[in-house]
Amino acid sequence: MFGSPGSGKGTQAKLLSQCISGPHISTGDMLRGHIAEHDEIGIAAQELLKAGKLVPDDMVNALVKQRVVDADCDAGMILDGYPRTVNQARVLLELLASIGFRGIVLHLVVDYEKIVARLSGRRQCPFCGTLYSLTTSPPKVAGICDKDGTPLVTREDDRESVIRERLREYDLQTVPILNFFKEAGVPLFEIDAGSAQPDQVSRKICEELVAAGIELKVSGSQEIRA
Ligand code: ADP
Repeated sequence: MFGSPGSGKGTQAKLLSQCISGPHISTGDMLRGHIAEHDEIGIAAQELLKAGKLVPDDMVNALVKQRVVDADCDAGMILDGYPRTVNQARVLLELLASIGFRGIVLHLVVDYEKIVARLSGRRQCPFCGTLYSLTTSPPKVAGICDKDGTPLVTREDDRESVIRERLREYDLQTVPILNFFKEAGVPLFEIDAGSAQPDQVSRKICEELVAAGIELKVSGSQEIRA
């Protein structure tokens, strides 16, 4: 599952667990788990995560390889945050082939101007952490927290220049991976994730997958086909 910062990818990955069999696997979450455990992987990954740098391909490839053989992945899984490089994508395709799975790419697409408007319109109370949106949920008094009267601030990573830089980095990183999957013949679904509520976007994704003949979970072990 791919989606730029601000596309709602994390939310959608969680919602999709309701209709796609198997767990939501986030390599970022796995790495943070190892860091919390202070184990060998965590120690090796810690500084890289702090600096916002990718961890080595071999490290995440090994984590994913170990994870996908767990029993809860028997019917599939949703991968989030992986692959992040073409090398990881190549390893993933080999891995899926070796365990008899096929891959599907879901790409959540949101107009970048919408993302910039939404994120740069966010304000936060530095005291209690409450988030406000200048467009959808503004504070009662401009610039002041409703709860404790503290002046609101724009978080550093919500500044427009920072957001545009993150979006540029996302494109640089992701376009080659999407091209690699296209050339490898992996089905690619481009989903407009910017014009509807999260549950409607999730429903749209499920409908498109069913229309493409992919088996979806209804509930428990029940499944539907197109
Ligand atoms: P974000 O979307 O904020 O980057 P993630 O939770 O996906 O958050 O990842 C957090 C960090 O974990 C990344 O910045 C990177 O350091 C590391 N990471 C996660 N997935 C990968 C991956 N597939 N390859 C390399 N590094 C990864």
